[in-house]
Amino acid sequence: MLEEFIHEPRIAYFSMEIALRNEIPTYSGGLGILAGDTIRSAADLEVPLVAVTLVSRAGYFRQEIDAKGRQIEHPDHWEPSRWTAPLEAKVAVTIERRTIWISGWLYILEGHMNGRQPVILLDTDVDENHGDDRRITHYLYGGDESYRLKQEIVLGMGGVRMLQALGFKVRQYHMNEGHSALLGVELLRRYVYPKEDRRPGETAYDIPRVRELCNFTTHTPVEAGHDRFSYDLAQRSLGDAIDITTLKHLAGNDSLNMTRLALNLSEYVNGVAKRHAEVSRKMFPGYHIHSVTNGVHPFGWTAKPYIALYNKHLPGWCHEPDLLVRADCCINDDAIWEAHRQAKNELIEKVEMLCGVILDPELPILGFARRMTAYKRADLLFTDIERLKNIAKQRPFQIVLSGKAHPGDQEGKRLIERLHEHRRDLAGSIPMAYLPNYDMEIALAMVSGVDLWLNTPLRPLEASGTSGMKAAFNGVPNLSVLDGWWIEGCIEGITGWAIGGDDETVGGDDSQSLYNKLEQIILPLYFENRSGWIGVMKGTISKNASFFNSHRMMRRYTTEAYIR
Ligand SMILES: *Cc1c(COP(=O)(O)O)cnc(C)c1O
Repeated sequence: MLEEFIHEPRIAYFSMEIALRNEIPTYSGGLGILAGDTIRSAADLEVPLVAVTLVSRAGYFRQEIDAKGRQIEHPDHWEPSRWTAPLEAKVAVTIERRTIWISGWLYILEGHMNGRQPVILLDTDVDENHGDDRRITHYLYGGDESYRLKQEIVLGMGGVRMLQALGFKVRQYHMNEGHSALLGVELLRRYVYPKEDRRPGETAYDIPRVRELCNFTTHTPVEAGHDRFSYDLAQRSLGDAIDITTLKHLAGNDSLNMTRLALNLSEYVNGVAKRHAEVSRKMFPGYHIHSVTNGVHPFGWTAKPYIALYNKHLPGWCHEPDLLVRADCCINDDAIWEAHRQAKNELIEKVEMLCGVILDPELPILGFARRMTAYKRADLLFTDIERLKNIAKQRPFQIVLSGKAHPGDQEGKRLIERLHEHRRDLAGSIPMAYLPNYDMEIALAMVSGVDLWLNTPLRPLEASGTSGMKAAFNGVPNLSVLDGWWIEGCIEGITGWAIGGDDETVGGDDSQSLYNKLEQIILPLYFENRSGWIGVMKGTISKNASFFNSHRMMRRYTTEAYIR
């Protein structure tokens, strides 16, 4: 079963979450979606890669929203044997002085062209383990910090051992975020200087050798996104896997900082957009941090009517999405509008089915869907309800929202409640729907079916953002704060519109800027100059989809990080 994959050396891509397909709930948001798109592009471009993640049998969670707008969380169990094949190998790691056995499942990610990529899902729910140990790989981002550290030991150290046990030859390791940084510790254990070569007091580990093998992508300037563990906990969990002096030298004196560990063990480090790399350089002075702006998978994030359109007018676009640069000249306005009308009708049907709200296909729809967390400011649009109503009185519009809050994020959950209150406040003036249980399928329906995609993060906390890139593949312009990818993607009035300026520190007047743009520029263009509007739709495809895709991103990782 593994034969076809182990004959050539591969890039080992480690990620705590990967969005493999909609039926497999092993992702929570942008990080997992990006990991999935990375592997999909590697498949299309036939870059030999093997991905390693946790099986997360109970998923992230399934979201229900009650009549008061409160989020209710249900486990989202999936059955690995339905989608994957069990692997023969078993490996062990030591946690809290106990031996924890790890088995694995093989998922084969099939590109829509011809590539295939193996994905290994690590699983501790095996007979050899007892009690809580069987649940280490059950809950994505669940449990306390001790649980998280166990997961990261299984992912990083267990993952490296599993690849070896299965016979993979690894050319380079890639840590997608710091969760997998303990893979570096496992490699240090493998590459030690022979005793006779050591000078007294010098570390036994061949750190330069490990650095040559490792690459690290950091994904967020939000503090909570960087795992830190106390050395008490670390020593209890890791035992003598690595000596504490070396660990402190690599991961920080005060606490085991997974980002530091990854930075110190990786020769190649990058942020996920130009601004994010700048911010990361300030956060972590002294490191050489490259920037590779994220992208989304061309085929996976394009709705059917647009796939048909691009196939007809720009054949080969799936392999070379750069061809979309010609969309503005090669596709006529009526064809674009017709594809949009179809995608919009699909969304309208879905909205009615999921929450009974009936939307009007003749009126513009504003879309916003994200992880519901404070810095994304999902409620910025509702800062001044009267102003919003007045804008809609002149030129009516509708709103569709979606998104989950992390079960431990009380502020995020209150945000969902507040959005539901706003929906009641706006009843009769602005039709509004909140689709429960945001997932890949809802995301595609929304980014292709709305007329305008909104993003309102607090600068500079949106490292990249990717849903706006998905919108671009479907000719949907963005109206967004200048942060993350949008600093690079926004050409005012050509690919969409900016909210506020691009100064890192401003943010106070964003709601006014948002209202002004809607009232004075965007809605008038939509209602009074349809061909001008379609011009912007074409601008988003030709200027943004042609660039902000994961094929370009994968080609850059390959030539700049993997081959060096
Ligand atoms: C694309 C996507 C995200 C990430 O969107 P951002 O704009 O980066 O916040 C999160 N969840 C799902 C289901 C997605 O499809």
